[in-house]
Amino acid sequence: MSRSLALLAAIATALAPMSAQAGPKVCASCVTSTMKHLTGAKLAGRACGTDDDLETARYLARRFKAYGVKGAAPGGGYLQSVQFRVPTYASLPVLQVGEVRFVHGEGILALTPMPDATASLVVLSKDGAPAEGAGRIVVFDGLYDPATAAALVKAGALAVIATPPDRFLKAWDQLATRPPGPVEVLGVEAPTPRPAGPPVVFARPETLATLKLRAGTSANITATLGAPILRTTYNVLAEIPGRSGPARREVVLLSAHHDHLGVIGGQLYPGANDDASGTAAVLEFARMMKSGRGHKRRVQFALFGCEEQGGHGSRYYLAHPPAPLGDVIANLQFEMIGVPDPRDRQALMLTGWERSNLGPALKARGASLGPDPYPQENFFMRSDNYQLARKGVVAQTISAWPLPPSYHQPSDTLENLDLPFMIGVIQSLADPIRWLLDSDFKPDWNPGMKP
Ligand SMILES: [Zn+2]
Repeated sequence: MSRSLALLAAIATALAPMSAQAGPKVCASCVTSTMKHLTGAKLAGRACGTDDDLETARYLARRFKAYGVKGAAPGGGYLQSVQFRVPTYASLPVLQVGEVRFVHGEGILALTPMPDATASLVVLSKDGAPAEGAGRIVVFDGLYDPATAAALVKAGALAVIATPPDRFLKAWDQLATRPPGPVEVLGVEAPTPRPAGPPVVFARPETLATLKLRAGTSANITATLGAPILRTTYNVLAEIPGRSGPARREVVLLSAHHDHLGVIGGQLYPGANDDASGTAAVLEFARMMKSGRGHKRRVQFALFGCEEQGGHGSRYYLAHPPAPLGDVIANLQFEMIGVPDPRDRQALMLTGWERSNLGPALKARGASLGPDPYPQENFFMRSDNYQLARKGVVAQTISAWPLPPSYHQPSDTLENLDLPFMIGVIQSLADPIRWLLDSDFKPDWNPGMKP
C-alpha cells in the first residue's frame, strides 16, 4: 500500500504530543516482526483448532516470556487449552438430480443437516400455493426468504432449494467450512439451543437455473450428521502483578484474538488487520509496561483463540478466569487497528462509547478515541469484549476502521495494512492505559447502559 506524504505528516502530528511524555516508546521493529510472523505462510492464517492455532499460541507465549512477562494460565504457564466438539456431516452433502450431481461448497450449500429426502422436484414462486410442494422437493423461483421457506415446509415440502442473498454468495467458500450446528465448548455451560431451521439447501444461481429445467425429475438430498470432532484451541494468558497497596488486586485486562480464517479453497487468509494487529498491540503493551517501573494495578494480557468461530476461547476464559472477574475493573479489546478510517484518518472508535465513562476518561488523557460511527453494525456485541460485558465487566473494543474492503478477505495482508499508522495507534494509547493502571479511577457503566 502506498502512503502519501500527507498521511506521513498527519501521523507525525498525531505522535507529536506523545513524544513529550515520559513513558516507554513503541518498539516499531518488535511490532513489525510480530506482524510478519503472524501473517506469514508458516502460520497459514492461524485457523481455529488446528496445529497452526497451537503454533501461534506457542509463538506468542515465547514473546511474553522474552519480555519477562509471566504466564497467567493455570499452573503458571501461558497456554490455557480449550477443548470443543465440532459437529460434522457424515459425508459431504450432495444433491443428486438424475445424473447431475451438486456437492456442498460447489453448486450448493447445506448449512443445516436434514433427513435424507428423495422426491420429485417442483418449481414454485412466491405466489404459488405452498400445498403444491407437499411431499416434494421445492425449487423456489425467487430470492430465499425464511418465512416462505417455513411456510413451504409447514405445507409438507421435504426440502426447499433457493438462491441465497448476495452476501451469502460472496462468502460462499467461507460458509462451506462452517460446522452444521453449534460447537460445544467443554467446561462451559451450553447456550440454549436454537430451534432447528427448515430443511433449506442454498443453490448458486446457475444451479437453480439447471434445476428449474428439471421439474418433475426425481431428486435426492443427503445432508446427515456424522460423529463430532474434538478440537483444541489455546488462549495465551500473561500478567504483570500490581506494585503494592490495595489496588494490586484490581485487574486491567488487555485482550485481542489471535486466530483468523486459515486457508479456504486453497487461498490464504492472513488476517493482518483482523486480528494480528490487535494481538501485536497487546504484546507491545506488555513489553512497554514491563520495561517501566511497574504499576499500581495488576495488568493481564489475554490473546483468545477461535474468536472467528464463535468466541470459544473467550467463553472458556470467562468460565475459568485466571483472576476473579469481580477484580477486573476494565477490559480493553483491540481489534482491527491497522487500517485508518477514510472518514477520519486519525480517529479510533471505542465500541459502546455511550455505555460507560471509560472512553471519555481515556480521551481526557490523550487517547484519540471517540464513539462508534457505525452503530447499525452492532460492533459492541460482535467481539470478545461482549462476553465479558455481559458478566458485568466494563469491557469495550478499540478499533480503527472496522469496515475495510479487506475484511475477511485474502487481501487482509500486511501490505494492505498501514503499519506506521498502527504503530502510532499503539503509541497513542500507551500513556492513557498506563494512567488507568496507576489511577484510582474505576470505570463504570452509565445509568441503564449495562448490557
Ligand atoms: Zn474477524
